[in-house]
Amino acid sequence: MAPSLEKTIYVGAFVHSKSLQELEICQMGAIGVDENGTIAFVERYVTDEAPRKKDGWESAKIVKVGENGFFFPGFIDTHIHASQYPNAGIFGKSTLLDWLNTYTFPLESSLSSLARAKQVYNRVVSRTLSHGTTTAAYYATVHVASTNLLADICLEKGQRAFVGRVCMNTLSPDYYRDASIEDGIRDSKASIDYIQQIDPNAELVAPIITPRFAPSCTSECLRALGDLHRETGVHCQTHISENKPEVALVKELFPESKSYADVYYAAGLLTPKMILAHAVHLTEEEVALIKACGAKISHCPASNTALTSGCAKVRELIESGITVGLGTDVSGGFSPSVLEMARQAIWVSRFVAMNDGDQAKLSTEEVLYLATRGGAKVVGLEEKVGGFEVGMDWDAQMIGLGAVPDGGESNLEADDPVDIFGWESWDDRVAKWVYNGNDKSTVAVWVKGRLVHQTSRYER
Ligand SMILES: [Zn+2]
Repeated sequence: MAPSLEKTIYVGAFVHSKSLQELEICQMGAIGVDENGTIAFVERYVTDEAPRKKDGWESAKIVKVGENGFFFPGFIDTHIHASQYPNAGIFGKSTLLDWLNTYTFPLESSLSSLARAKQVYNRVVSRTLSHGTTTAAYYATVHVASTNLLADICLEKGQRAFVGRVCMNTLSPDYYRDASIEDGIRDSKASIDYIQQIDPNAELVAPIITPRFAPSCTSECLRALGDLHRETGVHCQTHISENKPEVALVKELFPESKSYADVYYAAGLLTPKMILAHAVHLTEEEVALIKACGAKISHCPASNTALTSGCAKVRELIESGITVGLGTDVSGGFSPSVLEMARQAIWVSRFVAMNDGDQAKLSTEEVLYLATRGGAKVVGLEEKVGGFEVGMDWDAQMIGLGAVPDGGESNLEADDPVDIFGWESWDDRVAKWVYNGNDKSTVAVWVKGRLVHQTSRYER
């Protein structure tokens, strides 16, 4: 199915996470990627010519990274509403529940139009790829046809994705919800079947069961989705404990449940294949339950700040043994960039630290881990993506930072936003990228060895 690729050796500096705290910076490396887009070898400290001599790689294509650049693993966005992309940046002074009614439901319902869905989904997939997002866990809408179209677009553009038809049978306006639980399950199955049919081995695109959140599903609806999860083995995603009025609403709507997390547990949805977004106001018991069930958490710092939901205690979640990744949560979050989320995660952790002490602060190394290896674990792809290891797929971005010339003047419009003067250490270059970089710094992007995005700065 996938086109056979040219064997390629990626030569130059590369950076990736070795562990939560440790970033490996290799100033001169060579990474061989085979015809299937799989990493065949990783060499460190080689000369430019060395990789050519490797047996069977004499005629391989060479891609070199520039002097102030490096290869970095593709980002994993563990929570993004593709359908809300046109509203990125539009939230005013709203908080979660009024934001849904004012901005979100009207836009999402309009994506019943395939023409509009095509316009929105083409753009969001291209845009996230340009920011280095090689894997995304997407929420679409309730509509089967436009959800399937999103999966088609991800496959065509070459982005790795989980694509979910949103399920909800209550709370939202009458014009935008499943007509009945049976209708909702039928539609979810139809979308799962379609997505599995267009990519039978889930090489790039896979379905994901997507109850919007507990308040918009009755317990019968959640149980039916839990059954579907058990029967199909398909991943799940939803929201949990985003803001306090929402937590209070869940308590009121599910009086028989011990907690918000218990609502999902009772429905059979709290499993190692569940991605829970936000987790801002969890109790200790809920943290223990989520850990015991092996469910994962998507931290969405920009969204939590924009909607004044609160500051998730990421350090506590990680130390309790829960797997955490980053999510843009467009359009609760204003930016489709996971690099921006890395920065925002740092800021949010500093606000937590003001109450809880310095240990709550996340470092640059830690947020880069969450953006790559952590996210890969959240979506169950840690064997395939998130780092540069033999046997993993080449999901990568070429980062190119700007060089400040002697005299300090050059064409600002054409330059990368990160100004490298030349005397910075490699650690400092990476930090400058994290704090000042944007999509202009991402010169080219590959998924499974396929070039899926390039800028004019990319030289073949
Ligand atoms: Zn969300």
